Amino acid sequence: MRIPRLTKSIFLDQFLYMQMVGVIIGLSFPHFLVFYGFPEDDVLTFDFYIVTQIAGQTVGLISFLLITMVIRPHLKQLSHKMHDIANGLQEKDFLNYSEKCNQDLCKMDVISEDEIGVSANAYNQLLNALLESHESEKVFNQFSQVMSENLDSKALAEDAISLLINSTKIEAAAILIFRNGEVEVETSQGIFKPESLEDHQAVKEAIKSGKTSCITLPKNIQLDAVLTQFTPSEVFIQPIEFKGTHLGVMVAATGAEYADDRTELTLNLFTRSMGLALNNALIHSKFQRLAAYDALTNVYNRRFGMSRLREDFARAVREKSPISVIMVDIDHFKKINDNYGHLVGDKAIMILASIMKNSCREGDVVVRYGGEEFLMVLPGASSKDAVHLAERIRHKIMDTVFKEGEQQIDMAASLGVCGYPETSVSDEVALIDKADQALYQAKQNGRNQVVLAGDNIK
Ligand code: GH3
Ligand code: MG
Ligand code: MG
Repeated sequence: MRIPRLTKSIFLDQFLYMQMVGVIIGLSFPHFLVFYGFPEDDVLTFDFYIVTQIAGQTVGLISFLLITMVIRPHLKQLSHKMHDIANGLQEKDFLNYSEKCNQDLCKMDVISEDEIGVSANAYNQLLNALLESHESEKVFNQFSQVMSENLDSKALAEDAISLLINSTKIEAAAILIFRNGEVEVETSQGIFKPESLEDHQAVKEAIKSGKTSCITLPKNIQLDAVLTQFTPSEVFIQPIEFKGTHLGVMVAATGAEYADDRTELTLNLFTRSMGLALNNALIHSKFQRLAAYDALTNVYNRRFGMSRLREDFARAVREKSPISVIMVDIDHFKKINDNYGHLVGDKAIMILASIMKNSCREGDVVVRYGGEEFLMVLPGASSKDAVHLAERIRHKIMDTVFKEGEQQIDMAASLGVCGYPETSVSDEVALIDKADQALYQAKQNGRNQVVLAGDNIK
């Protein structure tokens, strides 16, 4: 049964109805007393009506106050918390609220089994769902940022794994990439000996079949720490694909707890989106390589080499440290081409490049400057160091046994060296120019020798 509403406030209605009950009690009480044998002259008097009225009204008021004190605080708490959440949602600043809520500050205490308890419980459940969806949205936003911002496959894989571990029940993960027919670990977190994954049967199977697998491990089984540093509950192995091409594998393990729905959903979404992002990153690095490297010798091409030299020279000037360059040119190379053909000539160029690469320190750069002419950039090397290195390279070239069929091809090279600050030059082009003049001088002096740029150059 519904009692009609009187005002806009339910509590005010309750108060008015209580007072009406008080009036009715006050009016009817003297008649009850007559019914029970009290003399009419005593109880049906104006004064007695006033007294019973006051008593009725007082009972009404006390009942109302009791209801207000018992029920109202819970409703007030519920309304305040709901109001808070609604405000937070409107201001798009839900983060503060979700942090508060994670410390249980927005939750309602469920202290009864009646409608108030049910409402509090339902509110808590709604809040949990809201927080979870907000958390998922936040993670997906961060993930799409990671996906769209990273063009380097390693940084991309590292960021994706960190995010996965921070936002789900995954506690260890690795991304393996399929490159030149080999599976390599691109990055890993929390996995003991991640390289062992490269030969792991389950990983190979995932790459071959393109199918996701999940190994669920019974709680009482201890792993021999091959996969992770802890005993995982589940290990997910998911292929990373782009348009049917297998690019790699995501391996993710949960810790003590099994993966919940959100973890599985996030993991699936991450792995699927990784396909596109990883494909972009791999294409980008391929293009970068193509743009920077010479296809025949796999050393920097001239354009890229010059920009490296520019940077290294500027750093040397800034940090007042030495830098040297060596120009190398094969002697009578035309003869090799003419006598044995261009393919043999190419082979000679490749041999020279690998001799130079193998003679370098970390930070040194080898550049194919022209046909069979190479430039070496040696940051931190003095002219003296560079001359020593040039002599070593010259000897290695002479000692190289280079055969075409039965015939041994003798190879020699001339080298021009220039070092800064021993030779005062204004920029990197002048440095190369001096080294080129030294090389010319070496050719003039009879070839197969090293000349240091300086006074002896005419
Ligand atoms: P020098 O001792 O004065 O250096 O004599 P050289 O015969 O080596 O003369 P030069 O350095 O001018 O020779 C350049 C030759 O290198 C000309 C060109 O046919 C050849 N060449 C340039 N690029 C390539 C290449 O990629 N492959 C081959 N096989 N030959 C090349
Ligand atoms: Mg030459
Ligand atoms: Mg030449």
